[in-house]
Amino acid sequence: MKHIVIPTLLLCALLSSCGAKDTTARKTIIAMDAAATLSINGENADDAISAAEKEFYRLDALLSRSAKTSDIYRLNENGSAAVSSDTAAVIETALGISRETDGAFDITVTPLTDAWGFFNQNYRVPSDSEIQSILPRVGYENAALNGNTASLTNGALVDLGGIAKGYACESAARILKSRGITSALISFGSSSIKAIGFKSAGEPWKIGLADPQNSQEYFMTLEISDTCVATSGSYERFFEKDGKKYHHIINPKTGYPADNGLLSVSVVCADGTRADALSTALFVMGADKAVEFQKKHGGFEAILITDDKTAYVTSGLKDSISAVPDGWTCIIV
Ligand code: AMP
Ligand code: MG
Repeated sequence: MKHIVIPTLLLCALLSSCGAKDTTARKTIIAMDAAATLSINGENADDAISAAEKEFYRLDALLSRSAKTSDIYRLNENGSAAVSSDTAAVIETALGISRETDGAFDITVTPLTDAWGFFNQNYRVPSDSEIQSILPRVGYENAALNGNTASLTNGALVDLGGIAKGYACESAARILKSRGITSALISFGSSSIKAIGFKSAGEPWKIGLADPQNSQEYFMTLEISDTCVATSGSYERFFEKDGKKYHHIINPKTGYPADNGLLSVSVVCADGTRADALSTALFVMGADKAVEFQKKHGGFEAILITDDKTAYVTSGLKDSISAVPDGWTCIIV
């Protein structure tokens, strides 16, 4: 069996270098099992980076599924736990987005991602009967929040991997702003990016979106300021068995990796937590439903890249993107 995980540090360097060259201070740290890069312009940038770095570690310690002292570990172990206000906020947002997306986004998908081996990297293809036996444990109705007490029923387990990085980017940005930073880029590789202000006067940050078929290359660039971009892609974590590729974004209704022709989804939204969860949800929905959802709900823009060499770009981004590579079609929707 072939196990493939794109080296996050490399991807991170590739993606953020596009927009963050020549910043005053820059640091890459490891948090939430990924590389996060902070690029800041202006005075006191080093102190601000240290404060944001601490915030990443603080949130990682609360939201991690594996750290034995985390809120999520205690919740999964005991079925109920008093959690910090940050954890409660992430769970509340996650459950709200589950309701909005009719369960396409679902933090209780966890026993399924475990069965496919994505948690401990023991990749395997579970039998259909195993998947069917797990499905009753999956469903956002199996998770509840009452004040700061979170609880799980029906053998549910939660993992905030589809939303936590976006929340962390938002929290770090709040800390930078409180320190007077008006120009910064915070990025977890291609997964979650938060831009504060412009790169320099009148010049937006330029973000490179990975080519989902060769993620060491750019697919297109996107100009942003004061907003977030989250990308979910089947290239980010996958394995191959008997010539078939299995990736880490699971359709909670079927129990199988979403298989609808999408290769990657990028969501641009002012709120990073929402951007992160929506990119995962839209990836599960597939291009048609995702575009329908965007038109109905609004408040965000999206780039959907499909395996028939088409990029669907919602109209609000038409002046912010570069051309698609040769051989690809770009359709503004
Ligand atoms: P992202 O890269 O933000 O799309 O998040 C992917 C991660 O979220 C996976 O590694 C899983 O931990 C988790 N996940 C997988 N499928 C789902 C889903 N349908 N809803 C919520 N989280 C998911
Ligand atoms: Mg996500």
